[in-house]
Amino acid sequence: MKYEAVIGLEVHVQVRTASKMFCSCPNRYGAEPNTLVCPVCLGYPGTLPVPNHEAILKAVRAGLLTECTIAKFSKFDRKSYFYPDLAKNYQISQYDLPFCTAGRLRLSGKGFSGAELPEKYIGITRIHLEEDPAKLTHSAGASGADYNRSGVPLLEVVSEPDMRSADEAYAYLTRLKEIMQYGDISDCDMEKGQMRCDVNISLRPVGQKEFGTKIELKNLNSFRAAHRAVEYEIWRQSDILDKGGSLRQETRGWNDDSGESYLMRTKEQAHDYRYFPDPDLMPVTFTDEEIDEIRRTLPELPEAKRARFVESFGLTAYDAEVLTLDRAVAAYFDEAARQSRAPKLVANWIISELLRLLSEEKVAINECRIAPKSLAELVDLIENKTINGKIAKEVFAEMFATGESPAAIVKAKGLVQVSDAGAIAAVVAEAIKANPAQVEQYRAGNEKVLQFFVGQTMKLSRGKANPQLVIAELRKQLAE
Ligand SMILES: [Zn+2]
Repeated sequence: MKYEAVIGLEVHVQVRTASKMFCSCPNRYGAEPNTLVCPVCLGYPGTLPVPNHEAILKAVRAGLLTECTIAKFSKFDRKSYFYPDLAKNYQISQYDLPFCTAGRLRLSGKGFSGAELPEKYIGITRIHLEEDPAKLTHSAGASGADYNRSGVPLLEVVSEPDMRSADEAYAYLTRLKEIMQYGDISDCDMEKGQMRCDVNISLRPVGQKEFGTKIELKNLNSFRAAHRAVEYEIWRQSDILDKGGSLRQETRGWNDDSGESYLMRTKEQAHDYRYFPDPDLMPVTFTDEEIDEIRRTLPELPEAKRARFVESFGLTAYDAEVLTLDRAVAAYFDEAARQSRAPKLVANWIISELLRLLSEEKVAINECRIAPKSLAELVDLIENKTINGKIAKEVFAEMFATGESPAAIVKAKGLVQVSDAGAIAAVVAEAIKANPAQVEQYRAGNEKVLQFFVGQTMKLSRGKANPQLVIAELRKQLAE
């Protein structure tokens, strides 16, 4: 490849709060259009904004979780523009003094394409807080504006142009989303527009220091779309440069159906936002003590959690990754593993049985009837050979349906594993006696028949015999 791609991302994240950024309207998705509105978020003259402290706290949390410097003095500014999505003709945002600056986020692991990513940090230029504009919809020659979204607290996270491929951009988005979710800042549900991203991308000949002409890509409504759009743009821009053409600074949209970007506007049409400090809002100040106070409430991040799961519970990197994809699943595993003598086995049960059942039954893990403690108990019953793996699955299904403890189910149903040598010898003898033809096959050297006898013996014991003891006893009696 002759060119190197230089990619930076601007990500908007809706902050999960009870009310909107500057009024007391509920911050809620999915209500009837224009029912969650008031004179403040409709921009009536003479109304006064009151900042939402919860949103500011979460902005600071986002900054701390991405290693940003938190401003001890910051302010809100007015960004002037005339468009129906903001009724007061300006957006309250932050210009030169955002809450968070100069952070970073680490990339590692595999990219979307499956290729190994370089171990590197992506710089975060700034994170600021602003208000979301109304949602505009256009159909059949008519447009509608839903002001329920107007005034919802919105974080803008601006990265440094540190990414070099579509895979790195995808990985950055994934990590950022993870941090926002773990940090209790946003649910980042992209289908509800809670996380939206724009990409800045330029190409330069490999080895050149100066940046090439920057193109901004908008309307990327999934990480997958972002990945595709970046790959497409790299191809499109390389093609123009290869043919001796030149690029101009422009804003392009992405059409995910056709898989192409299209021109929205050129630099000449760029806005002058005429930022100035909002006279209605006091500057926001923090002391070191206050910032430390917030720092103490931060959660363990997924990366640290994965490392701990591998270190203290003996998990593979892959298992740790699967278990930390969702914060609730990670918490569930953590609690179960702490109470079990076999945490690795607990992980296996969650990954292969619990997650499958939860998705089949469409149950969220925090509504699951099996308490983490009960799963730990089940695993311990297998470990100390009270029940075998097959019976354990039966017990597990019962636990999932009723929420009963495994010990109670095992006791009530008489499922305790039979490890008594005499009892096992008796069922093994019975199985052998009932199948003379297979005995001959085995004695003629067909080892595979042993599995048949294991099955027969387990059946006769109604699944309760200890399989290891059954195999040993079968070998012994068949050899006689
Ligand atoms: Zn309102």
